Amino acid sequence: MSKNQKDLLLNNPQLIKFAIEMSKAYRRYDTLAAARFTSNELQDKVGEPINILAIFGDNTLHPETLKSRLPKNIWKEFKKTLYDGEPLSLTVADAVALVMKDWATEKGATHFTHWFQPLTGSTAEKHDSFITPNQGGGAVAEFSGKDLIQGEPDASSFPSGGLRATFEARGYTAWDPSSPAFIVESPAGAVLCIPTAFASWKGEALDTKTPLLRSDHAIDKIAMKTMELFGETEVKKVFSTVGFEQEYFLVDEEFYYRRPDLITSGRTLFGTKPPRGQELEDHYFGSIPDRVLACMIDVEKELYKLGVPVKTRHNEVAPAQYEIAPIYETVNIAADHQQLTMSVLQKSARKFGFVCLLHEKPFAGVNGSGKHSNWSLATDTGINLFEPTDNPHENKMFLFFATAVIKAVYDHQDLLRVACASAGNDHRLGANEAPPAIMSIFLGEQLDDVFQQLITDKPKSSKQSGLLGLGTNVIPHISKHAGDRNRTSPFAFTGNKFEFRAVGSNFSVSMPVTILNTIMAASLTELNASLEAELKTGKDFDEALLAVLKSALVDSYKVVFNGDGYSQEWQDEAAKRGLLNRKNTLEALRYMVTDKNVKLFERLAVLNHDEYHARYEIMLEQYFKTINIEAETTQTIAKTMILPAAVRFFNEVAAVADRGSSLGLKTTGASHILGEVNDLVNDLVVKLDALVKVNADLGGDSISEKCDHMYTNVIPAMNEVRSVADRLEKVVADDYWPLPTYREMLFVK
Ligand code: ADP
Ligand code: MG
Repeated sequence: MSKNQKDLLLNNPQLIKFAIEMSKAYRRYDTLAAARFTSNELQDKVGEPINILAIFGDNTLHPETLKSRLPKNIWKEFKKTLYDGEPLSLTVADAVALVMKDWATEKGATHFTHWFQPLTGSTAEKHDSFITPNQGGGAVAEFSGKDLIQGEPDASSFPSGGLRATFEARGYTAWDPSSPAFIVESPAGAVLCIPTAFASWKGEALDTKTPLLRSDHAIDKIAMKTMELFGETEVKKVFSTVGFEQEYFLVDEEFYYRRPDLITSGRTLFGTKPPRGQELEDHYFGSIPDRVLACMIDVEKELYKLGVPVKTRHNEVAPAQYEIAPIYETVNIAADHQQLTMSVLQKSARKFGFVCLLHEKPFAGVNGSGKHSNWSLATDTGINLFEPTDNPHENKMFLFFATAVIKAVYDHQDLLRVACASAGNDHRLGANEAPPAIMSIFLGEQLDDVFQQLITDKPKSSKQSGLLGLGTNVIPHISKHAGDRNRTSPFAFTGNKFEFRAVGSNFSVSMPVTILNTIMAASLTELNASLEAELKTGKDFDEALLAVLKSALVDSYKVVFNGDGYSQEWQDEAAKRGLLNRKNTLEALRYMVTDKNVKLFERLAVLNHDEYHARYEIMLEQYFKTINIEAETTQTIAKTMILPAAVRFFNEVAAVADRGSSLGLKTTGASHILGEVNDLVNDLVVKLDALVKVNADLGGDSISEKCDHMYTNVIPAMNEVRSVADRLEKVVADDYWPLPTYREMLFVK
């Protein structure tokens, strides 16, 4: 505004009064400010085009860099730790620490941190400076082997599920050399992050990394036994691999900060569906808006620097929903990279005036977000054990491992359901949206056919996929994928890996994959034993194998379902087959700590009794806390934002009705609106009172009682309040409505 304009405004009392009235009457946020970002600020934000090859892994300390900087003999020693898991001597640790410090300080790092993954599901870091004062009154940059190997953060503020009493506050972080250290940059400086495990002073795992590593070890040990039985001598190691697809929403900051529910709960607790949602199906794979694309590119640039092999980006089904997916990696690194991806998404979004929502269901009535976790087993000789090849019926190793998966899922449906249970994910699984809460496997036509042959006789052929002609000679014929697609299955075989689709977008992949590895190890153990027993009876290998697979599949194959997982018929059919259908988190968790499950994790040395129980406690606690926060927020918003808005609007219409009648006019229109608003306000007050009452009650002393109270009393009360408030949104004047609407949040970008 020019000086003249300002003067004009300040000297004009009428104008000032008008401006004040306008700002009072108009809503407190600015939709246009949100939209304007696109044209005005984007230009400044977009940097140089990225050269992936030049920046890839720039901020990670690759083993090759270590090799080139370490003395030869030390590298030789260190390699044994890195690749064979041998213990590390302090001399070697000191040498590695020195290289790390030099590398990091050259990159501008002033601090280091042991970066770990506590049971909150996210990551934790406490920064320490490299600087140590010296005797001369100055300071030197120091970082010893001891600093590298072990840290001692106060564990008392992290969830421990009873593993740690408050007086035993100590916790330890221990360096995980198998995941490379990396540098996180921020405008204020850079930090060297050292991936670590986190344990209590008694050595119990307080994190998600430790059990993941243990489960991978269990797979190795047991699958190596399989190799031995198959007479396979070249393979020295079997490990699990994971590639995740992360879905997320981007909404404008302008709106985010006007929504207390997004701030406290990560999802909207109010809001009517916009007249246009995803009905037109025009968003999925649609062209990406400039501002969103700029944000995605920034995310990719940051992730490339951290060595995360990002591969795919696209629009998802819901408006304002997107997906990012890297290429798969070994589980430990994939899990670290997945945490980094979530953190970079959130950071980069802010640079572009967005907030990234990772919640499973930020908006009711439009698609939710998942984290498809693609999982496979591979050997150090480069074989993917879930690769069926062109003739799966002859591929004995594949048949054995695939049968083990079918058996694992069948035997442990309860655990697989636990792997994707959370308050947030309850809005997806078993709700109106799929995948359903029934844990079935999709195999596809070709494999189903092979397995049917196997069950009834022995597999003699594999249906070939052939070529797909498009009815024109211009376009070359393309080969049909033999394993077709099915989007409705929670656990689908997709060509050469299993895709666990039920995992929620906000999850750490560690726990779901730990469970997958564990149930697979259990199932393989049993199949190994049966095969060994069959071989002992003197059968030849093929005969023995066939007998083992046939008998394993008799019951297990019930878990295979290739049809529409969203349909009611499947719910009925699954019940007939006796499959579990645990529709919500509490139902799922109730069966988590059965004797059978506790012993399974103990036997395979993935989690001991106390560690396993701790995770159960923490999952319950998180469920309780999540709903509790949502319910308190619902109460506050309804009481302090929605009711007042409705009452003010009522007042304005009432004034119109009064004035109209005083002028002798018929005011039936105004009276009609008044009646409508009044009814809804009355209703809202009643529903709100009910919510206040259940919010004031905890439901009991034990965590499980508190959770039950949340499920049976609080959630329904919250839904009632929302339902009235959402009806009010449709009646109250738009400029009175205090919350940004779905229409704005989903479509302004
Ligand atoms: P989709 O079948 O969903 O289109 P893609 O082929 O794009 O999937 O793969 C999805 C994810 O699965 C990617 O992260 C990809 O790297 C990963 N993936 C592919 N092969 C494997 C494997 N053998 N093990 C684990 N993940 C894999
Ligand atoms: Mg996929």
